[in-house]
Amino acid sequence: MKLLPQILGLSLLLVGFAAARSACADELPSAEAIQSLLEEIHAELLPVNDGSLPDYIPALQDADAELFAISVVLVDGRTLSVGNSTDSFPIMSAAKPFTAALVMKQHGREIIRQKIGVEPTGAAFNSIEAIEMHPERAVNPLVNAGAMATVSLLGGDSAATQWDELLGWYQDLANAELKINQQVYASVSETGFRNRAIAMLLYDYGRLYGDPEAVRDVYNRQSSVDVTTAQLATMGAVLANGGVHPQSGKRMLAAEEVSGVLALMFMAGMYDGAGDWAWHVGLPAKSGVGGGIVAVVPGKLSIAAFSPRLDEHGNSVRAQRAIRMLSGRLQLGLLGPAEKPQSQ
Ligand code: GLN
Repeated sequence: MKLLPQILGLSLLLVGFAAARSACADELPSAEAIQSLLEEIHAELLPVNDGSLPDYIPALQDADAELFAISVVLVDGRTLSVGNSTDSFPIMSAAKPFTAALVMKQHGREIIRQKIGVEPTGAAFNSIEAIEMHPERAVNPLVNAGAMATVSLLGGDSAATQWDELLGWYQDLANAELKINQQVYASVSETGFRNRAIAMLLYDYGRLYGDPEAVRDVYNRQSSVDVTTAQLATMGAVLANGGVHPQSGKRMLAAEEVSGVLALMFMAGMYDGAGDWAWHVGLPAKSGVGGGIVAVVPGKLSIAAFSPRLDEHGNSVRAQRAIRMLSGRLQLGLLGPAEKPQSQ
């Protein structure tokens, strides 16, 4: 009995400590401080020239490998940017979570799990082995197979109406007019032999829900949409803000659709680099071979970074490092700090 006051005291102390810790962890520095941090990180990473341009999409070889931009969009709608943030790049696979979001909005969240799957493959984004190995075949909407299956589930009675609605959706999310990069679109349409094989294989397994060539065309259009980091981060900020657009104030997605998209991004957004990413960064994210990556910090902000040179998984080297540094310095990782916090 005599111990009771001590226990009570200790518990109060612990509760107080936990509250102080979470208040401190929840607080973001001022926009000005984040802006100077972005500038610092950009300058620090500019000399990094590891990685290479993808060679399987000829038009992507023409990209200026030196471009490098980072943008942050806060849940209050403010945008902070550094570097080549007005240069656009093909969104490529960074579009995939947003297409899955539209399919969830049109048909409910469960359709993704039932007709595609939600498991990470542990394999490359265009792996054919993964389709053969997993009974679900398409596996998840963020690898090429699952992304084409996702496109095949879009509402609309023709590929043209599906595409119009999808582009309109991206534009509403980005709060900007977006266009297809015609050179990239021509390039992925003419080549893309592996994606043709994937679409045919899925169709044969009954896991592609439309004509393979028509589906592949909508998929190629979505990959070829040009965005800037500010636009991509705005798209991500809708997810960070629980489905409400931080700039227009419009509800774009239900909360449970947002959590579904973020779950996919957490498990599979960085392909066979997803485990390493969770280990070092701890944020849902999605990369594209155009060099862009979007990461989401629920309730706080979204980060988009872009630089064309890629690592062996197809993820931009500088963009990954930029997001990792920002996340580390602001302690944004959802799983707690991954490195000892640096003094600011
Ligand atoms: N359009 C590309 C492809 O289908 C997208 C891949 C990616 O960005 N990882 O291969």
